[in-house]
Amino acid sequence: MYDVGSVFSRAQNTVPNVYRPIMLVFRPEVFASMSDICITKQSIATLCDKWRSLAINSEAELVAMLGGDGYGSPISQDYHYSELSCANSKNSLDLLERIIVEPIAIHGLQLLSLVRDACKSAEITCPIIERRYPSLNNRNLLRDLVSICDSLPFAATQRGWSFDETQLPSGLANYPPERRNRVCLWVRYFFFWTTNEVRNDLTFDNADDDRTICKLCDPGEERPPAMVNYQPWSVGEESKPRIDLGRCDWCNGITIRCRECGEIMAIYEHEYDQPICCGGGCGLRFRVETYYDPRDGGGCEEIDILPDGDPEAWNGLEEH
Ligand SMILES: [Zn+2]
Ligand SMILES: [Zn+2]
Repeated sequence: MYDVGSVFSRAQNTVPNVYRPIMLVFRPEVFASMSDICITKQSIATLCDKWRSLAINSEAELVAMLGGDGYGSPISQDYHYSELSCANSKNSLDLLERIIVEPIAIHGLQLLSLVRDACKSAEITCPIIERRYPSLNNRNLLRDLVSICDSLPFAATQRGWSFDETQLPSGLANYPPERRNRVCLWVRYFFFWTTNEVRNDLTFDNADDDRTICKLCDPGEERPPAMVNYQPWSVGEESKPRIDLGRCDWCNGITIRCRECGEIMAIYEHEYDQPICCGGGCGLRFRVETYYDPRDGGGCEEIDILPDGDPEAWNGLEEH
């Protein structure tokens, strides 16, 4: 609920917003469209199953939360990390008041133009503005961090990927160790979820489009079909990738493309964590594993290639 990115725009020795560089600000009417609103002082991922019992439930707490921070936010400093949860799985983008984007360029493309283009094609008409940085020092630091992400070699998954503080820009030298660690976490999120996203879009503009339509979801009649973007996937240093890992640009679901026989397999959630035999009959077996990432409360998936099976025998065992 608090604009976490605003702190880094003005204050020394602070950490850039790990919640990504695009902030959607909704109009107050959005609350009327939500049901079962729950406000917690910390993230519900931190509070686990206690989150509902620890939610704000008195007027005094609400007044304390709305005390303001002295920098223009209505939320008081004590409630910087408060979170609002509701039963709705989505909110209408018609209720957007404005969009604030960080003043950065990724792979040479201004984030502001990328967001403007995306909004234009989605017919979103609210104002889109770049965040203003009273601290030019921090703005430059942010740009240095983005350039570092631009220069890191491509990685399709977080497994085996690392980034350590020796790779951080010198502007962070005076930061306390725990904040330097936090910036490393920022790099991880930004690299996987922003730099790579922009890079994928660039690749598709230039190369032959090998995307497929996602079988896992249906974005509705008014939208173009959801597309799966593929990247070759290999385990660590293993030389030759045997599959392409596909991600849907709408539901983020996983589709696997077998590089041996070309079979395309949409992986439904009930198929996670168990062996899957390539439907093309080539003998390739793999498993999509899921694990919980306690740092941000999100789920992560990894792919394991299993020893090849005898396709005939295997298909007899597998339930389909
Ligand atoms: Zn999908
Ligand atoms: Zn296959």
